[in-house]
Amino acid sequence: MFKRSIGLATLIAISMLVFFTVVQNLTFEKASAQSKPTITKLVVKPAKPKAPAPVIYGIKTDSLAIVEATVKRGENLSEILDNYNISLTTISELAKKSREVFNVRRISANRNYTILHLPDSGKTAQYFIYEPSETEYVIYDLRGELNVTLEQRKVDTVERAVAGIIQNSLFDALIEAGGSAQLVNHFADIYAWRLDLNRIQPGDKFKLIYDEHVVNGQTIGFGKIKSAYFEHEGKELYAIGFQQGKSTGYYDQEGKSLKRAFLREPLEYSRVSSRFSKKRFHPVQKRYKPHLGTDFAARYGTPIRTVGDGVVVEAKYNRGNGYYVKIKHNKTYTTQYLHMSKFARGVRAGSRVKQGQTIGYVGSTGLATGPHLCYRFWKNGRQVDALRVKLPSADPVSKKHLNEFEQLKEATINQMQAINYDGKQQELLASGKQESQKGA
Ligand SMILES: [Zn+2]
Repeated sequence: MFKRSIGLATLIAISMLVFFTVVQNLTFEKASAQSKPTITKLVVKPAKPKAPAPVIYGIKTDSLAIVEATVKRGENLSEILDNYNISLTTISELAKKSREVFNVRRISANRNYTILHLPDSGKTAQYFIYEPSETEYVIYDLRGELNVTLEQRKVDTVERAVAGIIQNSLFDALIEAGGSAQLVNHFADIYAWRLDLNRIQPGDKFKLIYDEHVVNGQTIGFGKIKSAYFEHEGKELYAIGFQQGKSTGYYDQEGKSLKRAFLREPLEYSRVSSRFSKKRFHPVQKRYKPHLGTDFAARYGTPIRTVGDGVVVEAKYNRGNGYYVKIKHNKTYTTQYLHMSKFARGVRAGSRVKQGQTIGYVGSTGLATGPHLCYRFWKNGRQVDALRVKLPSADPVSKKHLNEFEQLKEATINQMQAINYDGKQQELLASGKQESQKGA
């Protein structure tokens, strides 16, 4: 490893090095990395083979220098290329040529670009490559003819897993495990119907298998959660993403949908201003009478969602209710929405609606003191408290798809059991094909 002709000083240094090596049980490389300049000098680095110039954006950079930068605020192409020996005439020619491919006016701040220039004194640019998004790049070829091409990057989908044990909140634990806020939201949505996220306990556990979109090894976004696992106070609840027929949903280990047939509330963000009650002082009529609905205070125009799939049986106006919509969900359940400012487009008697669909907008038509939604819920013809009624689950896996589901479930459970709670994001290879793990 060492040169033969070494001086006294270096000899001393070597003995020091040996000493350190023995005492600290370090390799030479480690010792040299420990910032001891005299020693570092001695380590003869193996002659590095000249690394081949990288190929970037499909361009060989052998004889080119690479400059990577980000477009500054207010900066345009001619300002950028001005530093790289490109004349204004060339730039305006380039602008003309690029119009149909990627107009240079669309070059905007904070996006990355790369310049490949000659190693001459003028740093004459040969290529300007601009990245309008993570998945696209535009090559402005500045040599001779001037060519502009827009290229798409290959987006890979990688299956990943995260797992964790909750100490403070699900959010903290999932982020710590390598997840994102987006993933937390999606996870919360999946379990929202079956789990009160406010009641999560320290020690509760989660596992998640999801898709991540990757370009050049860099994550550019999350795909959907394929399956999830949650352990609350020792009870296991799987969420297995499964498609039956045209609809996709998450089902537990018994094949039951994690969703309810009804949303708990018809407004996404609102405040209950008056609850269901057998006896309430009516603010307009100034007398006690039953209030067989739930009032939600909200701004004018807030979208009102139908809480479940169904058929509109009434969409009309009367003096008390103002504009209102009544929806029959099935032979057991009917809901009604009052005091709307207007109906959503296409909502009329006879129209079919899907859970979560906007059917109208908050207003104060009819007997109302201010903008609010009065929401009414019937079960078997009787008005009940929508906030207290036990809501039925959405349809389970059908008999027809049960076999297929059982297979997916088995594969998912095996996959989940192979994930450990080490707090690190894990990449899943050969996912879903770990049949051999069964019963382990
Ligand atoms: Zn009301």
